[in-house]
Amino acid sequence: MSLTHPLTLPPEARTVDHVSMFVDGEFVPAAAGATFPTVDPNTGETIAQVPRADGTDVDRAVAAAKRAAIDWQFTDTIARAALLRALAGLVTANADELARLEALDSGHYLSKAQDLVGAIPLWLDYWAGLADKVGGRTIQVPGNKLSFTLLEPLGVTAHIVPWNYPLLVMVRSIAPALALGNTVVVKPAEDTSLSTLKFAELVKEAGFPAGVFNVVTGFGSEAGASLAAHPDVAGITFTGSTETGRTVAKLAADHIAQVNLELGGKSPTIVFPDADLDDAVEAAIQGFCSHAGQVCVAGTRLFVHTDIREEFLTKLTDRLRSTRVGDGFAEGTEMGPLVSQKQYDRVREYIEIGKTEGTLYHGGGRPEGAPEGGYFVEPTVFVDVPLDARIAREEIFGPVASVHSWSTDDELVEAVNDSIYGLFALLLGSDIKRLLSTARRLQVGGVMINDWFGELPMTPHGGHKQSGTGREEGLEAVHGYTQVKHVSVNLDPSLRAGTNWVDAPL
Ligand code: NAD
Repeated sequence: MSLTHPLTLPPEARTVDHVSMFVDGEFVPAAAGATFPTVDPNTGETIAQVPRADGTDVDRAVAAAKRAAIDWQFTDTIARAALLRALAGLVTANADELARLEALDSGHYLSKAQDLVGAIPLWLDYWAGLADKVGGRTIQVPGNKLSFTLLEPLGVTAHIVPWNYPLLVMVRSIAPALALGNTVVVKPAEDTSLSTLKFAELVKEAGFPAGVFNVVTGFGSEAGASLAAHPDVAGITFTGSTETGRTVAKLAADHIAQVNLELGGKSPTIVFPDADLDDAVEAAIQGFCSHAGQVCVAGTRLFVHTDIREEFLTKLTDRLRSTRVGDGFAEGTEMGPLVSQKQYDRVREYIEIGKTEGTLYHGGGRPEGAPEGGYFVEPTVFVDVPLDARIAREEIFGPVASVHSWSTDDELVEAVNDSIYGLFALLLGSDIKRLLSTARRLQVGGVMINDWFGELPMTPHGGHKQSGTGREEGLEAVHGYTQVKHVSVNLDPSLRAGTNWVDAPL
C-alpha cells in the first residue's frame, strides 16, 4: 500500500485567503471577532482561519431567517423552484472550486469530491420539481362541509451537518426545506466549513432573498448548541453521531422543535455462499474503505458464510494490498486520510482495542509513503472477533472491519439485529428469495442487494433504532419540513342547520 504519485496540487492552491460567515445576505466575521483554524487532513497544515460563532451570531442568523420567512413562505412555488434551479446551474459552473475546497477540507480524494459535487444539482433539481407538487388533501366528512389540509412550512429550520460529506449532507436537507417554504440556518462541522461558505456565495449570486439561507460556522458546543436551543427554530435536521443527536434532541425538546435525526451506524455487509466473490470483495471494500470508512452506512461488520470464508479472506487481502492510499490530490488515490488528528487518534485507539479483542488479519498501520503529518490509516481487518467485542459493536468511523462467519440464516439475522444501530445493510448473493426474506427480517432503514451504496434524491434515507428518526430524501422527506393545518368550512346557510355535529369538548 503506497503512495504512487507525488503531490499534484501546487502549495498556493492549498490555502484559502478570506473566510466569512453568511448571515442575512452578507459575508460577516463572528461578532466577537473570534476565529479557529481548519486544516488539510492530507498534511495537517492550516488552510484557513474560520469565524467562530457564538450565541450572538446564532441569534442574528435566526432573527434574519425569521424575518425572511414572512415573505418566503408565500413566495410562489414557481419562483422558489426557479431559484433552486439557478443555484443548481451555479453549482455546476463552480464545480471545480467546490470540489477543491471539499477535498482540501474533508480529505475526500479529488476525483471523489468532483463526483460528489457533480451530483449536488440532482438534489436541487429534484426539490425544485417537487416545490409545486406536494400539498394537502381534501377529506370526506359528514354534513355539508368542505374539509381540507394545507401543508405549510415550519418556519426557520436549523441544519447541523457533520464533516464527512459537508456539501451533500447539507444540500439534501436544505433543498427540501427551501423548496417547501422554510428559511434555513446551516451550521457546518468545525472541520469542514469551506465548501459550505463557497456554496453560500452561489446562493447569493442565484438571487435568493437575504435571510433565506444563512451559515454560522463554529463549534458544536457553542454555535451548534445555541442553534438547537434557539426558541425561534421550528425544525432541526441534525446529521451526526448518535451521542450528539441525543443532546440535540434534548435541546429541541425544551422548545418543542420538530427533529430529524440522521445518526450513526454499524452496518453489516452480508456475503451469502452463492455470491460472486470478486464482486463481494469489491463491495465489501467500498463498504468499509470508502472515504476512509468515515461514512454513516459503512459496512464495518462483514458477515461471511462459513463455506466461503477462507476464499473470501484471501481475495479480500489480495485486493486490499493493491488499494492506493495516500494524498487525495495525487492521481489514482483510492483512499485518502481521516479528517482530523482527533479522528486519527480515535481510530488508532480502536485498532489497539481490536488487537486485544480479536486477531489482526490485515493492515493496522500507517500506509507506506503516506505524506508526513497527514492522518492516514491502512485498511484494517480483524478476524476471530466475538460479536460482543467493542470493535464489533461501536461505530469506529475509520477503515476498520471485523469479519464474522455464520452458518444458518436465523443465526445471521439474530447477530445482525443485535445492535443499537439500524441504518443500512448490504446483501450479496444469488438466491433472490433468500436475499429478500433476509432483507425483510433486518432492523435497518435501508437495504442494498448486489449493489453499491448510492444516495439519490428520490429514495428515502434514514435509520431504525438509534440510527435516527425521520427521513431525508424522497417524498418521505416532505414530512420533515412541513406541518399540517386542517381547515373546515361549513357550507350550510346557518351554523347549525342539518349537520352531524361531533361537538368539541368545552
Ligand atoms: P458529531 O456528532 O460530532 O457532529 C455533527 C455536528 O454536530 C457538527 O456540526 C458538530 O459541530 C455539531 N455538534 C456537536 N456537538 C453539538 C451540540 N452539543 N449541539 C449541537 N450541535 C453539536 O458528528 P461528526 O463526527 O461530525 O460526524 C460523524 C457522525 O455522523 C457519525 O456518527 C456518522 O455515522 C454520522 N453521520 C450520519 C449520517 C446519516 O445520514 N445517518 C450521515 C453522515 C454522518
